[in-house]
Amino acid sequence: MSAKILIVEDEPAIQELLVFNVMQAGFQALRAENAESAWQQIRESVPHLILLDWMLPGTSGIVFAKQLRSDALTRDIPIIMLTARGEERDKILGLESGADDYITKPFSPRELMARIRAVLRRHVSQLPDETVTINDLELSPESHRVTAKGFVIEVGPTEFRLLHFFMTHAERVHSRTQLLDQVWGTQVFVEERTVDVHIRRLRAVLEPFGLDGLIQTVRGSGYRFSVG
Ligand code: CA
Repeated sequence: MSAKILIVEDEPAIQELLVFNVMQAGFQALRAENAESAWQQIRESVPHLILLDWMLPGTSGIVFAKQLRSDALTRDIPIIMLTARGEERDKILGLESGADDYITKPFSPRELMARIRAVLRRHVSQLPDETVTINDLELSPESHRVTAKGFVIEVGPTEFRLLHFFMTHAERVHSRTQLLDQVWGTQVFVEERTVDVHIRRLRAVLEPFGLDGLIQTVRGSGYRFSVG
């Protein structure tokens, strides 16, 4: 069965274009013109990926992305944010709201489809099922659950993969490029700065347990997960 993609876009012409391209590429397309109708769609049928416009009437794409990330039903659905804004500050804001990737309008259908495929690939790609435990941190790929000192902690899908990679490749320095290749996949057009955003998010969820120090910044080189 082909992946279901929910397109949340209020401008009819752009929505039509997105639906056309998504179906052309062999995916199923669901559509909504605002956050409220998107919720209805999701309750009826949970999509595999959401293409989310930033500028929506009513609830903005940014606010909606945060809502999606805080709901158990939608927490793990990858989000690609669509926006007319191209500023660096806005990109970071978009990623911090919980989006997995970001594309600026006007976009080329080819680039959009490449990003959709890359995001889907890294969300369905198999992780080894073995539970990894380091210090007070436990990660179970099978239950998709992370616990810190026995408490379940909420991490986004990209942070989960990032943490899994770190925990299975501890005590080594990884450059941003290596992390992008390993965690995001080589087909993805994301900037190295994206890594920093997700590292920040990961540290933020570990911080209340005093475990944020496990992820160390190695100046000029990258990051290392280390108990030392
Ligand atoms: Ca719009």
